[in-house]
Amino acid sequence: MNKNKLKEFIKEIPKSDIHVHLDGSLRVSTLIDLAKDSKLKLPSYTEEGLYEKVFKDNYKDLPDYLQGFGYSISVMQTPENIERIAYEFVQDNIKEGVYYVEVRFAPQFHINEKMEMNDVIGAVSKGMDKAKKEHNSSNLVKAGKLPTFEYGIIACAMRAIPAGVSSYFDKFTEVHKHSSHTRISALASYELVLSMIKARDKGYPVVGFDLAGAEAGHPAVEHREAYALAHRNFFKKTVHAGEAFGAESIFQAITELYADRIGHGYYLFSEDMIKSKQIKDKKDFINRLVHANKPEYW
Ligand SMILES: [Zn+2]
Repeated sequence: MNKNKLKEFIKEIPKSDIHVHLDGSLRVSTLIDLAKDSKLKLPSYTEEGLYEKVFKDNYKDLPDYLQGFGYSISVMQTPENIERIAYEFVQDNIKEGVYYVEVRFAPQFHINEKMEMNDVIGAVSKGMDKAKKEHNSSNLVKAGKLPTFEYGIIACAMRAIPAGVSSYFDKFTEVHKHSSHTRISALASYELVLSMIKARDKGYPVVGFDLAGAEAGHPAVEHREAYALAHRNFFKKTVHAGEAFGAESIFQAITELYADRIGHGYYLFSEDMIKSKQIKDKKDFINRLVHANKPEYW
């Protein structure tokens, strides 16, 4: 099969996407539209300009890549905007032949005076439902020529809650005056799972719990209580691990957080870590796995 035919074949076959971030999947044209509407500052108001300055082909590191999310999150602060983004997201997936999606996002980034946690999940669900119903009642689906569309929601907690990005996280930090930043992040994760239980009770298709954000220096094990709560409440569990830190991060996600699925996992093999100079040799690799849960190894 030649390259073009293979591309065509991949485009045609029905697919599922189980690792996709809603706030990383906005149409750039929609981002510009919504930013103009809400008078938000963007480094450029053209698609070309944003591809050059923000959504680049290559990034310096994970934090550099994550910067783009700041802009998308800033336009996702009303139920109407979130609903539109979620609606278009499903349309774009169907266009690419993706018929089952587990969409993920961090609801806490979108909480403000107008929306509490479950309003955010509700707005995403409403937008996705609308596009889903339109597709599933189309003639092509009814005639059996296209598969039906379905989706689930994964709520992401943050390894370390950032400052100055969300009023919710800022307030959360302010009221926990006597706790460390690590502990505050863990408490915010626990709070998220509590709200997920309520969202699921309301009928929203919340299927899983995830941990995302800057990995190095922020061991997932600190979020153990939130994962235990998710586990006891029959949520599926996933962890962004081995993305910007070593294999011990993956080890910890599985042994301490009951992860059913790992996100990214680039550093699964010690050889990759040796090449990237994260570890000296295989002995060092084993040593770090054995001590994976000790804070000084992070
Ligand atoms: Zn991810």
